[in-house]
Amino acid sequence: MLTIQKFGGSSLADVEKLCRAAQLCINERQRGRDVVMVVSAMGGATDELLALAYSVSAAPEKRELDALMSTGECASAALCAIALESLGQRALSLSGWQSGIFTDALHGEARIRTLTAGRIRSALAAGIVPVVSGFQGIDSYGDVTTLGRGGSDTTAVALAAALRADDCDIYTDVAGIATADPRLVPSARLLAQTDTRDMLRLSYAGAQVLYAPSLETALEKGVTLRLRGASDGGEGTLVRLLSESERPALAGLALSGGRITLVGRAASEKLPEMLRCLAERGIACDKSASGTDSAFVETDPLSAVAALNLLHEQFFSL
Ligand code: ASP
Ligand code: MG
Repeated sequence: MLTIQKFGGSSLADVEKLCRAAQLCINERQRGRDVVMVVSAMGGATDELLALAYSVSAAPEKRELDALMSTGECASAALCAIALESLGQRALSLSGWQSGIFTDALHGEARIRTLTAGRIRSALAAGIVPVVSGFQGIDSYGDVTTLGRGGSDTTAVALAAALRADDCDIYTDVAGIATADPRLVPSARLLAQTDTRDMLRLSYAGAQVLYAPSLETALEKGVTLRLRGASDGGEGTLVRLLSESERPALAGLALSGGRITLVGRAASEKLPEMLRCLAERGIACDKSASGTDSAFVETDPLSAVAALNLLHEQFFSL
């Protein structure tokens, strides 16, 4: 059995967290699982690298930005491998190109085209934990590319598909996926599972918990993933293709600017209720529309968080 464990920047923000990630890998190994770790840059590192580039030039070349930004993930992969070795687990850090992750040449937003994973497979066969740098690949010119901000999620899902992993666990600093962003909606409820299509719509509408292209890959390749907290020991949220009977009528709310989107198989028919709910509280809507399994209202950005909380209470209070 094979588990992909992906750790986001917030779960690798300092040495203590990095060692906790390594320990989670060892725990999984002790359950008899093979593990491939996929890592983001340590929290804030990518932003620092970008700021550095823009302090040198107002218009850095995209190729060079990718060469620079990709180093954040290489550093955390090497550090995680060092942490694993120090805990007695053989490990091997691998960059995107060493992992056989081939992309198109669209610097800054490249898409994975093929994934050979040769060295990953041979490391696994030898009982070694490959620690793969997320967010990066190599194009047909031999240049390093990056997959877009948040792209380590895509690396994890693409590897899960290519290696036919049994589990794909995405570790982050929240306990899982909730009915709305819990930083904005304190009463947001943690979900045990959610539908991949609903999650993708929520991502397009502004939910930041998973990178949208990673969900596109999950849908295309049929990968089930689990979003879980790196420090809470909980089960997190399973993201998979639910049958129509399992799929809840409403999946969640997302916010982008002043636009609030309700997603779920019954969402489009809820638009009148959304408008009524806000009108009753005197919140004006500039624009609204319903689409496939979704509906949105647009308010003044300054009222948006209040409106989001009202709509959450309307549709998700128990
Ligand atoms: N380090 C990159 C970013 O900050 C990629 C990732 O974290 O997934 O966007
Ligand atoms: Mg992320």
